[in-house]
Amino acid sequence: MNTTNNIPTHNLLINGKHVAPESGQFSTILNPATEEIIASVAQGGINDVDTAVKAARGALAVWNKMRAADRGHILNKLADLMEAHQEELILLETLNAGKPIASVRRQDMPAAIDTMRYYAGWCDKIIGQVVPARTDALTYTIREPVGVVGAIVPWNFPVMIGIWKIAPALACGCTLVVKPAEITPLTLLRIGELALEAGLPPGVLNIVTGKGSVIGNAMVSHPDVDKITFTGSPSVGRGIMQGTAVNFKRITLELGGKSANIIFSDANLDNAVRGAASGVFFNAGQVCSAGSRILVQRRIHDEVVDRLIARAKEIRIGDTITADTALGPLVSDNQMKTVLDYIDIGRKEGASLIYGGKRCDRRGYYIEPTIFSGVQHEMRISQEEIFGPVASIIPFEDEEDALRIANGTAFSLAAGVWSSDITRVHHMARGLKAGTVWINTYGYTDVRLPWGGTGESGFGREHGEAALENFTEPKTVWLSLL
Ligand code: NAD
Repeated sequence: MNTTNNIPTHNLLINGKHVAPESGQFSTILNPATEEIIASVAQGGINDVDTAVKAARGALAVWNKMRAADRGHILNKLADLMEAHQEELILLETLNAGKPIASVRRQDMPAAIDTMRYYAGWCDKIIGQVVPARTDALTYTIREPVGVVGAIVPWNFPVMIGIWKIAPALACGCTLVVKPAEITPLTLLRIGELALEAGLPPGVLNIVTGKGSVIGNAMVSHPDVDKITFTGSPSVGRGIMQGTAVNFKRITLELGGKSANIIFSDANLDNAVRGAASGVFFNAGQVCSAGSRILVQRRIHDEVVDRLIARAKEIRIGDTITADTALGPLVSDNQMKTVLDYIDIGRKEGASLIYGGKRCDRRGYYIEPTIFSGVQHEMRISQEEIFGPVASIIPFEDEEDALRIANGTAFSLAAGVWSSDITRVHHMARGLKAGTVWINTYGYTDVRLPWGGTGESGFGREHGEAALENFTEPKTVWLSLL
């Protein structure tokens, strides 16, 4: 990192070195809470991607010649360094992504470190099987790394989701070219440096910053990238699926959501309302699993509406570096405008705007926590991902009605159920179309548990043992005993 006019300037990280982009161009990075420039970052191009892919290809043999346990030691060392530099990384993520510092400290960084340690532990446990297929042959499988991985990361959890991809790929013996989201590259760039300090051989982890349409596309179409792991919007995911079809790359897609958080009349309402509010307002609603549709059983509807408004009023909006801020800004001017447009659409569709709905009267891309009631299941604000602090309250009659509404979108990432009836919650868990169902809680993820969805929410699972499938190929070996 250099500085120009006191603004830190970041090059690409390729083959263990900071490299200027071929274009010589840089773009500015803003703090969404203040709209001030905080850094300048290289605008990589197609040739830079090609150089990074060559470096990753060259490093594959080096990385795989190491004992699996030694690879694990390096990943553990990286986790140690992430921990030692935690305060610096927390601040970077806070300033770059516009997240309240308390939530980065409580969630994003601990989860990233935990993920790195978890997969460090997997390095020497990725094993094949001896399969007793024949008596005249020794038949067994080994698990080989898929090769060079292109990882495309979104802006809503830049470090956490970045590590969700980097850690298991490295554990499986893959090498990577990582593309952070254009506007939130700072924390991963720093972790790339720490990885070198931890002993990761040059070329194993390359970071190329720049426009998604350029860098992402170049990775998707590059003949020497074996696999794309992508988290982002369904529309870009669709393009990636089409692009990778040309050379049959493997892909994992973690896409959007429109999750239902379902409150039955027999729920503990204090907990349910607290969970529903944090489920939709956490990270200013920029969460793929945001419980943006709050389904409320009709007989408690008015009470839940009143309680939700009361909670929304209590949410502390403030500068992201202030310790007690709970609601930060949207990540960019663009995202703020998209969310304001949706609020307008909701009004025009005839939903009742009962709280919030405006840009906050302060610097930064802040929008008030916003609540619509009287939302019809078919409305756009109930069907489309808004990715902002906007809740739609939808009444329902009974379990069947709740399932019909909850399952009635193109997404299926997550859902929540609040009820004290143990039989009902298990029925709902089975009936809900979702990769994760939370019962009497909402929003938790843990690297030990599979994460992902189907339909417009994508396919494949991150986390846990499931992620190892994403980055390995089984090979069958057949040795004649005749
Ligand atoms: P996005 O699709 O705009 O961008 C995601 C990434 O793709 C970025 O790095 C971007 O630069 C890159 N990209 C853009 N155009 C590209 C192209 N043509 N080819 C290749 N790459 C390209 O998404 P976003 O706005 O950064 O993130 C928000 C979306 O991510 C939401 O839809 C959200 O639901 C989803 N998301 C899903 C999960 C999950 O786990 N399922 C988690 C977080 C976010």
